[in-house]
Amino acid sequence: MSLGSDSAKAERMFRLMDGFLKNDSISLQQDILRHVEYTVARSRFNFDDFEAYQALAHSVRDRLIERSHDTQLYFKRKDPKRVYFLSFEYLMGRSLSNSVINLGIRDQYADALSQLGFEFEVLAEQEGDAALGNGGLARLSACQMDSMATLDYPAWGYGLRYEYGLFRQVILDGFQHEQPDFWLNFGNPWETERVHVTYPVKFYGVVEEENLNGEKCNVWIPGEVVEAVAYDNPIPGYGTRNTITLRLWAGKPSDQHDMEAYNTGDYINAVVCRQKAENISSVLYPDDRSFQGKELRLKQQYFFVSASIQDIIRRFKEAHSNFDEFPEKVALQLNDTHPSLAIAEVMRVLVDKEHLGWNKAWDIACKIFSFTIHAVIAEGLEKIPVDLLGSLLPRHLQIIYEINFKFVEELKKRIGLDYNRLSRMSIIEEGAVKSIRMANLAIVCSHTVNGVSKVHSELLKAKLFKDFYELWPQKFQCKTNGVTQRRWIVVSNPSLCALISKWLGTEAWIRDVDLLTGLRAYAADPDLQQEWMMVKKVNKMRLAEYIEAMSGVKVSLDAMFDVQTKRIHEYKRQLLNILGIIHRYDCIKNMEKSQRSKVVPRVCIIGGKAAPGYEIAKKIIKLCHAVAEKINNDTDVGDLLKLVFIPDYNVSVAELVIPGADLSQHISTAGHEASGTGSMKFLMNGCLLLATEDGSTVEIVEEIGADNLFLFGAKIHEVPKLREEVSPKMPLQCARVIRMVRDGYFGFKDYFESLCDTVDGGKDFYLLGSDFQSYLEAQAAADKAFADPNKWTQMSILSTAGSGRFSSDRTIRDYAEKTWGIEPCRFPSDG
Ligand code: PLP
Repeated sequence: MSLGSDSAKAERMFRLMDGFLKNDSISLQQDILRHVEYTVARSRFNFDDFEAYQALAHSVRDRLIERSHDTQLYFKRKDPKRVYFLSFEYLMGRSLSNSVINLGIRDQYADALSQLGFEFEVLAEQEGDAALGNGGLARLSACQMDSMATLDYPAWGYGLRYEYGLFRQVILDGFQHEQPDFWLNFGNPWETERVHVTYPVKFYGVVEEENLNGEKCNVWIPGEVVEAVAYDNPIPGYGTRNTITLRLWAGKPSDQHDMEAYNTGDYINAVVCRQKAENISSVLYPDDRSFQGKELRLKQQYFFVSASIQDIIRRFKEAHSNFDEFPEKVALQLNDTHPSLAIAEVMRVLVDKEHLGWNKAWDIACKIFSFTIHAVIAEGLEKIPVDLLGSLLPRHLQIIYEINFKFVEELKKRIGLDYNRLSRMSIIEEGAVKSIRMANLAIVCSHTVNGVSKVHSELLKAKLFKDFYELWPQKFQCKTNGVTQRRWIVVSNPSLCALISKWLGTEAWIRDVDLLTGLRAYAADPDLQQEWMMVKKVNKMRLAEYIEAMSGVKVSLDAMFDVQTKRIHEYKRQLLNILGIIHRYDCIKNMEKSQRSKVVPRVCIIGGKAAPGYEIAKKIIKLCHAVAEKINNDTDVGDLLKLVFIPDYNVSVAELVIPGADLSQHISTAGHEASGTGSMKFLMNGCLLLATEDGSTVEIVEEIGADNLFLFGAKIHEVPKLREEVSPKMPLQCARVIRMVRDGYFGFKDYFESLCDTVDGGKDFYLLGSDFQSYLEAQAAADKAFADPNKWTQMSILSTAGSGRFSSDRTIRDYAEKTWGIEPCRFPSDG
């Protein structure tokens, strides 16, 4: 049906669709039972919790699909400029609770289920996490998708449908072991396979010059073709009917694949080769900070980029015939450098397939791309060896060379023959391994380059991309990251959600998060404080039960729950935290018994995954367990101090941990965290921060005031000088705790030696020694504040009240207005 040709009919269809599925309790029960019987294929008289979850998820999916169809048809009709968000990673977590809350039918479902003899919360626990990403960057993509849907932006997300998500972390004897996360084992009820949305993606081969109507053109004859098939995941907005799509690509063997092998009779090998195609999207690379120039990773990047660009161009061509209109209809957002091959791909399609001519194609490319970089240090920037790219994507290498040649020629006109600067800015890095600098490619083509916090954006201008900033100052912007309050308060902390709504007298803050500042007026109100403490206690109870079930350690609810959960990295300094815990333990042990009543009891909680090849990070995990073993079994210390490691930290574990935290640590060496988003989630949940002035913490301080958190450590500008000191200062207390580890007080003496060397081996690159004293002071200040529950609760309320600025709604609105140039396009639910 062509809607454009008959808008009256279309309007009628929209109205009819509104009535397709009913949300009253009986209809929901009927739907769930229908799915038990016909989708899950179990008898409606005999099904368990998992089967009930599957049926429930399918019934929710039906509603999502309706809305998603409405939204897409509406977008098609209105034809607004769309943003296409390209990200290599998405950490979506679970979908059930988030979906029914955004659809506004959670209570109806809970009621329907209870009538069937099930509990919503119990079924929600049956769902596994979709962990198609590593950490902050990937969860950011997920939060931003939620905001794009809620704010009614015409947006699409594109990514890869990894069959194995981020590895599962299993701890055996305190050591991390990695197990594959085959998350699709029992099916994924949320996705829809689009068998008709497939595109061929080419690899290898050669480029030949051909004559087309008297003009030379390049023709790429591939050596391998893999089919990309779309899997659509609906992303519902909150308080709107708009439901956008996250389209993930999976590899499938192509019919064009290896026909020759079949023809020559090598049937078995040909089938094995076909299977190789599926491997492209099989596994997520589990390292969130370094790139090793591996062929499979490059293949994955191009695979997802090529399929996405083909899809975007197909959609554009359905409504337009002239590429001059492309920049008015399409914005392409590169989430870090991983998808930046899209630039070369757009150029290839426009030049080689659409025959637009280089200059026109380049003009279009420069108007559609925007780029957000998450790296902080030059060593973290992605580079692709020229040889690798040339063999896998020969035409793209030519295109990148051509882009670089023209860029450098232009640059010479602007800056003259300053060869050092020319070589720094070149997209091609000469050297032992000649490489493509993906960030330089992205900056040269993008109209906007964004940092992810104020300090990070300044660092880009002053250091990482100083040369580019001086050339194109207007390109550089800042979009401080944000997190969605739907997932991080409404879904994960329902009691706090209800309390906030009660005191603000409205639920409007769920869409208009600035309203949270209204809580400031009541921060000192004893009634609110009382209720606030009750909510925290309930959440701590939930977390304490989880800790006991998982580790056997019983923790006291009166203790301060002090949490550091995030990827394990030297720069994030979990080691500083553990050394601080050893110091605390040592102090308690050496204290007069009469003094112990003054100690503020603590439950220290650490969680996070180490990249499988990152030895030092794995040793940090082991040290945490070794110290925990000692402390938790010391009856002399009892409830004054406990240490627990929460295994397999992921989004659903975060949803449990964050609401139950009193204090959370964000203690990276200043200048190393681009933004940090974990801190924002804790802040929203009224958790006090103990932090260094790094990344977005600087803006959190601006918003809530330095009095409402515990700051410590060297400032960004002090770090280089401290590193230059010939023999870094090692405070006595730090030297003492390191000595305890070295002497085998926690066992594994030899194993921990290299870990201790990173601190007192003469280098202390991450400045644990020089920050140690001020870290202890911040911890002492936190103890003191916790001993005064009213003061603490006031600080907690002010933390939540100031967290609105760190909502991804603000980030996305900023992107839409200042970078993408798009406007909301809201489906008119009332007809
Ligand atoms: N991992 C998960 C599961 C998360 O939810 C988050 C963000 O909250 C992160 C990692 C990133 O945390 P941080 O920004 O503190 O490094």
